Amino acid sequence: MDSRRFLAGTAIALLIGAAAAIVRAQQPTDPARERAGVDLILTNGKIITVDEKFTIAQALAVRGNRIVAVGTNQQIAQTATTATRRIDLRGRAVVPGLIDNHMHLLRAGTTWTREVRFDGVESRKQALDMVAARTKGVPPADWVYNIGGWSVDQFADSRAKFTREELDRIAPNNPVALQESYYRTYLNTRGLEAFNIRDGAPDPADFPKGSIVRDGSGHATGIVEGGMGAVRAIAGKMPRVAESGVEASTLSMIKDMNRAGLTAFGVAGCDPGLLPMYRKWEAQHQLNVRIFCIDGVGAGTPEQVERALPQIANIKLFQGDDFIDSVLYGESVYGPLHDPMFDSTSDPKPEQLAQWRRLATEVARNRLPLHVHAELTHTIDAFLDQIEAINKVYPVKNLRWMLAHFNQSNASQLERMKRLGMYAAVHPWNVINGGIMREIFGDDALEQPPLATIQTSGIMWGFGSDGSAANQYMPFITLNYAVTGKMASGLKVMRQTISREDALIAYTRRNAFFVFQEDNLGALQPGKLADLVVLDRDYLTIPADQIKDIKPVLTMVDGRIVYEASAVTATR
Ligand SMILES: [Zn+2]
Repeated sequence: MDSRRFLAGTAIALLIGAAAAIVRAQQPTDPARERAGVDLILTNGKIITVDEKFTIAQALAVRGNRIVAVGTNQQIAQTATTATRRIDLRGRAVVPGLIDNHMHLLRAGTTWTREVRFDGVESRKQALDMVAARTKGVPPADWVYNIGGWSVDQFADSRAKFTREELDRIAPNNPVALQESYYRTYLNTRGLEAFNIRDGAPDPADFPKGSIVRDGSGHATGIVEGGMGAVRAIAGKMPRVAESGVEASTLSMIKDMNRAGLTAFGVAGCDPGLLPMYRKWEAQHQLNVRIFCIDGVGAGTPEQVERALPQIANIKLFQGDDFIDSVLYGESVYGPLHDPMFDSTSDPKPEQLAQWRRLATEVARNRLPLHVHAELTHTIDAFLDQIEAINKVYPVKNLRWMLAHFNQSNASQLERMKRLGMYAAVHPWNVINGGIMREIFGDDALEQPPLATIQTSGIMWGFGSDGSAANQYMPFITLNYAVTGKMASGLKVMRQTISREDALIAYTRRNAFFVFQEDNLGALQPGKLADLVVLDRDYLTIPADQIKDIKPVLTMVDGRIVYEASAVTATR
């Protein structure tokens, strides 16, 4: 290890530390604590800082909620006093808290504990066992369900579709609805009955024609498929957590996020009815994830555009703090140009694009950052045509405009975006949808998203999941996919793999920038907030196919340990 680099780092650390102290001077500091040195040191580890030089260090020190020093064991040990808590990392790797730049997090909290979540489940048998176990914990007649976040192609033992009969065997008394991403739902007999789907009777009107799959003799197979319309007809009827249970459900979800190493989110759709609960937890110093909202004004007709324009002019972002804030306009600009997942063709109409442009122009005129759902290649081209025109009047450079999802992008679009000073929020749906996308797009699916092309273009880009329905949420499964091109089952679904370092940067430092927290988050550096994850094995050196199996053993948010695997850091 280069000690000169650490010395220089420490000098800079002192400077940044001083700057951070000034920033925090508005908050009362405890003089006794200032004299007492640092609160916590983590030593004897492999600190993957993800700073601009991708520096690896041995140890770091935390005072209050901020990192105050990063360096060698010896340097960091010197910052400690008898009052300092010490964690011996015993060689473990540490990464910055992982940031998902696009998750429908608040919505997920309203169903989380009611759902039987299959995120990260690699065995079909285990998934069925989970469904069977849930039927034992709820009254008969209660729904046993999930709303996406998985597909059968993630199972290593068998990728067979679920059958009505096998679901009946494990859940004879409860209605069951298992939603495979946004593509397909599996119902058992009780579930079919609950939707009035019967053999020998016509299909209920609320399902798109042909979406209820029947065998040759008209017997309903339990499968409902045919895009988001069919799947949502079922999901919309699933019971939410009772109002009195929303807090507990959300806390349970946040715990799962911390267990997966996630500490901050760009949140698509921050339900104003749910935010006060998060604010209450923040005030109590008990909020264990950071929430950066992507909020917009819905418009789907020219009349609604007329009403939306003055509302856009009144939007005030950045009124919050480093735990909860609204930072981006999105994720939709104009409803009819919001490509539904799994659609394979787009044909944006000139009159629709004219409405899109009116709205986006207003976003640019008010200098608001934009994070817009843009998926199919024709739609992306059409949006870029509009943005290039807007840019001539209201330059978008430095406004942090980004296209989101971005699975069907290409090199020429990346060049246009770079010229505009735009970024890419990449949400690789293939992490769970790889098999489905292959059915829809054939070999083209192997280039969705074209990660290597995106990386080599030099554009600024970051990872999001688009969970919890369209995708699973666990970062190490996504990182495994980025590095190997494989789903958790080992199924190869993407050709354009990238390096571990680039993939990790896209889950940390880049996303910190995308949620306007680059001064606080995304790297382990003096002056930044102490959000970090201790891993059970070294992300940089284990065989690539094992990246998905990495388990955080400790997650820290704002200097607080928010998740700890049993008996891991009992050392002091
Ligand atoms: Zn979207």
